[in-house]
Amino acid sequence: MDRLLQNVQYLKGVGPQRSRLLAKMSISSIFDLLWHFPRTHIDRSILQPTHQLVTGDQAAMIGTVLTTRSSRSRRGMGIFSAAIESQGITVQAVWFNQPFMVDILKSGRKVWLSGKVKSVLPPEIYVSEYEILESEDAVPGIVPVYTTTEGISQKVWRSLLAQVLEKYLDGYPEILDQSQRQHYELCTIQEALANIHFPTAGSDYRQARRRLAFEELLLFQLRLRSLTTEDTLTGLVHQEKNDLVQKIRDGLPYQLTLAQQKVIAEIFANMESPRIMNRLLQGDVGAGKTVVAALAMVKAVSSGYQAALMAPTEILALQHGQALTDILYGSGVSLALLTGSTSAGERSDILELNHRGEIDILVGTHALIQDGVTFKKLGLAVIDEQHRFGVRQRAALLAKGDHPDTLIMTATPIPRTLALTAYGNLEMSVIDQLPPGRLPVKTKFLPYKARLQAYNFVKQEIIAGRQAYVVCPLVEESENVDLQAAVNLHDELRSSIFKDCQVGLLHGRLRSDEKEEIMNRFKIGDIKVLVTTTVVEVGVDIANAGVMLIEHAERFGLSQLHQLRGRVGRSDLQSYCILLAAPHTDESRQRLRAMETSNDGFYLAQQDLIIRGPGDFWGVRQHGLDQLKIADLTKDLQLAEKARQCAREIEPLSMNKYINARFPVIEGTAMN
Ligand code: ADP
Ligand code: MG
Repeated sequence: MDRLLQNVQYLKGVGPQRSRLLAKMSISSIFDLLWHFPRTHIDRSILQPTHQLVTGDQAAMIGTVLTTRSSRSRRGMGIFSAAIESQGITVQAVWFNQPFMVDILKSGRKVWLSGKVKSVLPPEIYVSEYEILESEDAVPGIVPVYTTTEGISQKVWRSLLAQVLEKYLDGYPEILDQSQRQHYELCTIQEALANIHFPTAGSDYRQARRRLAFEELLLFQLRLRSLTTEDTLTGLVHQEKNDLVQKIRDGLPYQLTLAQQKVIAEIFANMESPRIMNRLLQGDVGAGKTVVAALAMVKAVSSGYQAALMAPTEILALQHGQALTDILYGSGVSLALLTGSTSAGERSDILELNHRGEIDILVGTHALIQDGVTFKKLGLAVIDEQHRFGVRQRAALLAKGDHPDTLIMTATPIPRTLALTAYGNLEMSVIDQLPPGRLPVKTKFLPYKARLQAYNFVKQEIIAGRQAYVVCPLVEESENVDLQAAVNLHDELRSSIFKDCQVGLLHGRLRSDEKEEIMNRFKIGDIKVLVTTTVVEVGVDIANAGVMLIEHAERFGLSQLHQLRGRVGRSDLQSYCILLAAPHTDESRQRLRAMETSNDGFYLAQQDLIIRGPGDFWGVRQHGLDQLKIADLTKDLQLAEKARQCAREIEPLSMNKYINARFPVIEGTAMN
């Protein structure tokens, strides 16, 4: 193993210069190099007879360069073309925007190329892959093509990988024994690494890919397990019989849905048992997760423990504080709120009381996981909208107690296997039903030429007594620019179409008390139109808001649009969602169409996975799943399940070095 972690610098053909280039591509060890898999392979043995080319088809050929020419299209695109003699026929091969081809493709050189046949008379091909054949030893066959950087040619890659495979493959650790490989139908790691780089047939490659995807998912699971609680440990036991829980439950202004009752029973059973609870509570937006969490926290409190609730944004923490205050009214349970903008004096009071165990429920943002925060006896940690937090942040909250139970709430429905893969071992409870009387939100996509019409509709709804959110477009990653867009939109609306009513502005940069004031004014109906950045995306709950207008909806992901839409439709009146958009890609059109046709978060999440792939699927990115090099969770879910089974039989401690080499960090970022 140690040999594999050696720096690539000491390989033949890699000096300081090349090792710097490699480091830029995150390749520093032999191990990294072995895991730098080819982007694709080209099969030089499959060649089209040049006289049988068909317009529109893909074709590959080998030929000799006769002449070359550089020019520019009228739009300024660089064009490089070469006349190539292949099997007695002259073919024009064309490269776009690759001016350096002039230096590479000199006349007389032998070249393999493939691409799309543009015309047959005369033969012309637009090149997508090519390769200069150096000498006669470049025999036809399957060769790897690597993602590269300037200064490292394909030839260099191939010779590096060939060298490394020859020298290091024997010592590469095989973590699966014969019987495991048989059981999961996998080839050896040696075969896999050799064939992923240099397969001799397509079937070799597929076998190799399967083994490596499995290995990758397995290592990911082991890494996750080393970061999270062992499920064999015994945890706290919460009281079974509980008058306070019953009293609060009876005092709710509504009847719990059957789905809520079911998940409460599951959570309670888990809390009463000595097994540590590590449970994901999943429910579509508006399904009523807060009250479920509240009852679980009350159960912990009346069993003599403290509970903590951590939310990803300040607005959400504030709102949870309010919702809990309502639910707990008259119960004697004490509650405090701790966020980044809690004043220093108040903070130190809260920390002191909390340390003494005099605060029963502490609600807050990631301010909860800061160093100074200590509990007397934390018994239940609730994490809302968990996809915004990383494994480490979650672990930091749990470390404030002695193996407290955990409840993770999420509105992003993800398939079970994906959840298990992303979060590690946990159990799931699903609220698969909305409170009665909710009407599906009517959703309409409108192009920008209908913008005025869209806002007129919003105005009518306001005249009819409803309230509206207007969500600003995401401009770019920078918070400042997003903020400016919100300010501008607010100014525009307030001085034109909504000049006769109160328009509020809400964004992440406001002070906590300012946010609270604006939310309250919106809640009591003083503000009619709330212009906002995506800070309202998670969890905000105001029943009279009946219209959600999203500017430049094409810039948002599907899950995010669904979350935003979930802010309306929280009463028994009809609500509307207007997606103002200028979609430029098929992907964004598909997303908008999906929004128009479905209100079902589970369906939409699946669509999102299909349209964008898991790399972009939020909740996955933050969990390090985008570090996967070869496993693809849209295709490999079954394999992921098998890898998870297999991970249970393996002792991670014995191979930590290896796991860390592959997955240095699995961490997320909380946003605010
Ligand atoms: P989410 O699951 O999105 O977090 P919330 O917990 O914010 O949903 O609940 C949405 C709204 O539905 C809240 O106003 C809450 O009071 C209300 N609610 C929750 N459960 C019920 C129920 N069983 N019947 C009626 N309203 C409910
Ligand atoms: Mg919520």
